[in-house]
Amino acid sequence: MKTAKARSRPLSARRGIRTARTDSRTYSDAVADLVEMGKGFYARGWVLGTSGNFSAVISREPLRLAITSTGLDKGGLAPQQFLEMDEAANVVRGEGRPSAEALLHLAIARGVDAGAVLHTHSVWSTVLSGSHASQGGIALEGFEMLKGLEGVRTHKHREWLPILENSQDMIELGERVSKTLRDTPGIHGFLLREHGLYTWGAGLQEAKRHVEILEFLMEVLVRSGAAQSA
Ligand SMILES: [Zn+2]
Repeated sequence: MKTAKARSRPLSARRGIRTARTDSRTYSDAVADLVEMGKGFYARGWVLGTSGNFSAVISREPLRLAITSTGLDKGGLAPQQFLEMDEAANVVRGEGRPSAEALLHLAIARGVDAGAVLHTHSVWSTVLSGSHASQGGIALEGFEMLKGLEGVRTHKHREWLPILENSQDMIELGERVSKTLRDTPGIHGFLLREHGLYTWGAGLQEAKRHVEILEFLMEVLVRSGAAQSA
């Protein structure tokens, strides 16, 4: 977001405290962008009923993520409802506690070097991840909108969107996420069965674009009847 650049830097930066941050984005910049993103995603119906969660990597070494606290209305997030967590999901800044799914954000941030991880619970991803679960994923092919995915140059690209069985055991699920990222290099996201979408990007804007592209394509598939043909 253009406006975020003008926002004040965190106190630690103003005081000249340097951490080993490799990303130029600050915690407050990332949080400001995620607040705006939440409003947009909520308006589109992708994160209703306190569902979904968003994170941005603000330091790579050591790994630090700005992430939404658990159980919040994503359409009306405030900056103080975010947390900074370390690589073991310990809160190092802010109040509240991270979502149980924070472990998945960490697995993705590590597994594909993502700069941002976004998770949505749309009607489209819920329907498709149920109807295609027996196939282990959904192939997206032939759509012009595929070119919005990083590195994709043609509508002929075949994007594989794996579907993982849902679980409430986030340690076990995190391991399956890591394995999926290792086994299917080049994917831009995956679905949890009858749960939702995880996607990511090198930065927040790229991750946001990936949500928009993948949600668009899943909506196209459902509206065009693909959900019934599986
Ligand atoms: Zn979820």
